[in-house]
Amino acid sequence: MSIRPKKSLGQNFLRDPNTIRKIAASVEAPAGAPVVEIGPGTGALTEELLQRYPDLTAIEVDERAVEHLRETLPGLDVQHGDVLDTDWASLAEEKGEKLWVVGNLPYYITSPILFSLLDARRHLRRAVVMMQKEVAERLVAVPHTKAYGILSVQTQLLCRPTLLFDVSRHVFHPKPDVTSAVVALDFDAPNLGVDVEQMRRTVRTAFNQRRKTLRNSLKPITSETGFHVPDYLAGQRPESLEPAAFVSLTRAIFGGAGA
Ligand code: SAM
Repeated sequence: MSIRPKKSLGQNFLRDPNTIRKIAASVEAPAGAPVVEIGPGTGALTEELLQRYPDLTAIEVDERAVEHLRETLPGLDVQHGDVLDTDWASLAEEKGEKLWVVGNLPYYITSPILFSLLDARRHLRRAVVMMQKEVAERLVAVPHTKAYGILSVQTQLLCRPTLLFDVSRHVFHPKPDVTSAVVALDFDAPNLGVDVEQMRRTVRTAFNQRRKTLRNSLKPITSETGFHVPDYLAGQRPESLEPAAFVSLTRAIFGGAGA
């Protein structure tokens, strides 16, 4: 059975055995570990993963791909559905341990998938995910760079991202317009010590007007809570703050509450 990818969704299927092996090896899970593949498609990466990790679950939205996988890889647990609806907590509970995630992500929903993985961080060990290089660079960006922003701060506060390697557009079919990159997210970051939603709101509000000083950009929050941006941060712009400084900022402008 031949399944044609829907080019309009920007989905590009891996063709190169070396890249496939490299991604599978980067998961670095023990052999018996519960591994979850996001978007297996026709199974390019899946076969290699299944050889290494027999306890593999694959989540795929495309019905034809699901049928194809069930026929060709009968040992695989294929779940038909939208990965954004995945209940990671239940899946980890069912497996009795934290999960390892891997996938060549559908690029049109990379950010929502990343945020859902960050939300599920307590149930995950490590995710090895391929995305557009431009997005990968944002995840690991440092202050004072153009790529540094909301995604960088939230990701670096909630997990430990590492850019592993670039993937040429020539190893895909159809060939995408952009270079890709594989990123590892290790979910071993300590507890933040502030409420995650308050941190997210602080970071989003600060970067919404990234050319303004924090004293001004955070007015929508400070006018509501009655607390002030501390003097040593008030004159700075968000792009000059290390991720950890956003935790102090959150604590200061929300009055120090939060777990
Ligand atoms: N893993 C395959 C490979 O590397 O050749 C396919 C990768 S392709 C970039 C993305 C896959 O994700 C497609 O098979 C697509 O059907 C699937 N997909 C797209 N949106 C999805 C969603 N919301 N939930 C689960 N799978 C999705």
